[in-house]
Formats: sequence, C-alpha cells, structure tokens
Amino acid sequence: MTKHLRVLHPHKNIYAYYDGRVPGYRFMEQENWVDNGALSLGIASYAIVDGNEALVYDTHCSNDYARAIREHLTSIGVTKFTVLLSHWHLDHVAGTEVFKDCTIIANQKTADHLAKHKSAIEDGTDHGLPAINPLIMPAQTFSKSMNFKLGALDLQFLEFNIHSDDATVVWMAEQGILLAGDTMEDTVTYVGEPEHLNTHLADLDHIWALSPTHILPNHGHADVIAKGGYGKTLIRATQQYIRMLKRMIAEPELRDQDLRHIIAGPLEAGWVNYFELYEAVHKSNVEMVLKAKLN
Ligand SMILES: [Zn+2]
Repeated sequence: MTKHLRVLHPHKNIYAYYDGRVPGYRFMEQENWVDNGALSLGIASYAIVDGNEALVYDTHCSNDYARAIREHLTSIGVTKFTVLLSHWHLDHVAGTEVFKDCTIIANQKTADHLAKHKSAIEDGTDHGLPAINPLIMPAQTFSKSMNFKLGALDLQFLEFNIHSDDATVVWMAEQGILLAGDTMEDTVTYVGEPEHLNTHLADLDHIWALSPTHILPNHGHADVIAKGGYGKTLIRATQQYIRMLKRMIAEPELRDQDLRHIIAGPLEAGWVNYFELYEAVHKSNVEMVLKAKLN
C-alpha cells in the first residue's frame, strides 16, 4: 500500500513523507478519496524532529502510511510523538489510530468539524470509501494560536481561514520555515468554500507578513519540497489565482480558459509548476465560484 512512499529531508529538522503523481498507480480500483483528492495530486505530510521528539504534522492517507511514518521516526531515535492536524479533511486525518497513544492537537474548529462528521467518516459515507475507523479525536485544542516547544525548537501553530475555515499552519520563525498544510498548493489552491475567498485573500496577506523563506505545502511538487520548499511568491501565486476566479463572475470569457493560460504569469515566473491533473481541480473551482455567485 505504501510502496511509492518517499521520505524527503528538506531541512535539518524536517522530514516529508511524499506519495502520489505516480503514473498508472491506483490505491483502489473503485472511485475513492485517496486517489481522487490526494495521490493523484501528490501528498506530503511532515515531521519536525529534535532529539527524541517529533511533531507529526498530519497523519496521511491511511494507517499504513501513518505506521510507515512512525517506523521511520522510531528508526532515527524518536520516542515521543505529538500529532498536529492541519485541518479536518480526510487525507490529513486518516492515520490517527496509529498515534492513539500520543497527544493529538488541533484547533477548536477542526475538532468541531471532526466531531460533527465522525460517524460518517467512520462508516465511509462522508467522502465515500475508504472509511476511517476508528477516527481518533484531538485531545488538546487551541484557538487562533499556540506556542509549542519541541526539544530546543520554538514552534508556533497559527489558525487561518484559507482553503478551509479550520486551517492550522506551523511557523518556525527563527528558520523562516512555514508548514502550510492545504493553505497553498502547487499548482493551484483547491476551492471547497468559495463563500470565504475574501477571507482567504486577507489571511494570505497575514502569512505574507510573516515573510517565510521556505514554504512546505501538503500538495506540491516532490522535487521542490525535497530541495527545501517554495519561496514567498507561492503566496502571491495563490492570491492571483483566487482573484482570477473572482473575476470570472463578471467576465465570462475567462471561464473556459485552461489553467495554463489562467496562471501564465506565475508559471512563467517559476512561482508554481504546471501539473496537468490540476486542470480538473481548476474546472471544479470555477464551478464552485460561479455557483456561490461571489462579489
Ligand atoms: Zn489535502
């Protein structure tokens, strides 16, 4: 199940567990959220390590993935695990059972979403198969922000409303590194909550103000992640794309253009990289925005 999993080492204290974008490979034969939302686009979850302690940022697509992550961390001497969930979507919370003996942290909104959808997630009717059963709930919650000491490292967990209203990112101020969850993606953000696009833009400005030098998203290009992540311009690329989506309400001629044209500027500048399967994400984003009729 995890034979294509790659352990990347973008920074001294950070590991990325990357799978997906593997031509011809499927997780399951039938329609399922692991192939559709995660492996097709590429997915990484992360661990920050100092000494014998690790912060596991998301539990990946299944217990098998989570087990592989835990085994890797154990092999390099980690004995104390803490889990932080980036948001409540299934490809980020599927392996919680493997860490049921550890503290799982999430912001209050994430905990509320998970509580509301728990039974559907566990019986496979929330986003379909595979079911996540049992889903282990966060035992510790915070709102807005939380400081966390991992060994000698100072981490900040920051809550934003980008992509989903319950996003938590990890900010390592001293290193200039941001673990971004799904607040930004390469090639483009996935719009599931079009009614919040203006808040997404404003909160992306808040991230810009932090001035990160390295951004590590959960859905992106493995080579870029392996080399340390994206520049600050990934934030601008995401904002420009969101503004283009908003323009489509008043400018119908933009609606049928393919993604390559819509984001030609950021592509040319090298802020993001074109990955063909994001054309379908873009189509779905356009439909979502038009349906919500934003101003
Ligand atoms: Zn995701």
